[in-house]
Amino acid sequence: MRTLIVGAGIGGLCTALCLQKSGHEIQLFEQSAQITEVGGGLQLGANALRVLDYLGLLSQLEEVSVAPERVDFCSYRNGEVLHSVDLGHRYLAKYGAPYLHIHRADLQRILLQALQQTTKLELNARLRDYRQTDQGVNVELTDGRSFAGDCLIAADGIKSRVRASFQGQNEPVFTGNVAWRGTVPADDLPNDFMGKVVTNFVGPNKHMVVYYLRKQQLLNFVAVVEDATWSDDSWVSKAPWQKLKDDFSGWHKTVQIIVDAMQEQDCYRWALYAHKPFKPWGSERVALLGDAAHATLPFLASGAAMGIEDARVLQRALDQSNNIEEGLQLYQCNRFDRTAKIQKLSSKMAKLYHIKHPVLLKLAFNAVKLKSAVTEEFLTEYDANTVTLV
Ligand code: FAD
Repeated sequence: MRTLIVGAGIGGLCTALCLQKSGHEIQLFEQSAQITEVGGGLQLGANALRVLDYLGLLSQLEEVSVAPERVDFCSYRNGEVLHSVDLGHRYLAKYGAPYLHIHRADLQRILLQALQQTTKLELNARLRDYRQTDQGVNVELTDGRSFAGDCLIAADGIKSRVRASFQGQNEPVFTGNVAWRGTVPADDLPNDFMGKVVTNFVGPNKHMVVYYLRKQQLLNFVAVVEDATWSDDSWVSKAPWQKLKDDFSGWHKTVQIIVDAMQEQDCYRWALYAHKPFKPWGSERVALLGDAAHATLPFLASGAAMGIEDARVLQRALDQSNNIEEGLQLYQCNRFDRTAKIQKLSSKMAKLYHIKHPVLLKLAFNAVKLKSAVTEEFLTEYDANTVTLV
């Protein structure tokens, strides 16, 4: 089978790696001149790592990542721990795979290195349009080149060009949340600044998630602020350090130390866009995958993980079907409910993390303690390698 994939993000690369294992001849198109991941860290749970293990990459990932002991949800002012979940021995024993923090650039590099020579990656290759015929799919690039294949997988991200062809004006919407993202070398922080813990400071209209990357050499943070005024088309823009400082003024001293250690020229803000769940994800020989199909708020740290799961389920669905159309249908049928639920749960988390009143915040986290095991199991027990596809 000759498979065309648009987009060499985490979703597209994992799809190429899964499908090459099933013997597909793959052509991967990426609009950028080189694969450079921006944005720092990613948290990946056992559900994603089981797929990366199937691809033979888990030990390489472990060499460059951090396995946290737990996640603490802390009050923004005094750091009081409102809720804590063990991500260490308990997690590994329960789910059979670890929880890891990895730099996106490291993950991309490891995925790229695993591409076989038979998989062709075209850089500077931007899809303009595609056409389906009885025999296959033709892809046309903006530089005039065209390519033919048996099917097209669109892993072209939240702004997917392919999605527009069968979803019309179904554009992602701005969620009213803006994320500051940054990394700080551990050498620029006080000795023993933090343990191997994900710390999520939660407070009125904002939260900041902090964790280590690269064997604790680098501290990563994502700081989300409600701000309905975004008007920049690029979705990412440089912002003055002072604005970050003002946004988190009065927050816990750990937050202040991180903000103060941040290089002023490295301050960027991302507008957080998301989709409501939608169908279909494709037609006949074309299917969406990853953020193109189910872009979500990052509050359950599951966007990339869903794309990784998609890749494995897509491979298995094609393997066990009689023809491409049937395989792509089976893929969508088996991925829609789970990804839609994660999209909805992530939006719910936004409300929880940003509760204004400290007393209500405490009450809400007490209630969460009861439910968090259920959410964790739902996210983590899913095994894309073995789940029955019906
Ligand atoms: P993308 O990464 O957007 O890749 C799409 C690729 O397609 C790009 O390389 C693009 O250049 C290319 N492309 C687009 N259009 C074309 C075209 N016309 N022709 C050719 N190429 C094209 N997820 C987690 O699992 N864990 C986390 O901890 C986590 N944290 C996050 C924190 C923040 C602040 C944010 C914003 C997101 C986070 N996510 C997390 C989500 C995760 O980053 C995304 O879900 C994931 O990167 C999406 O991967 P993708 O491959 O589907 O899309």
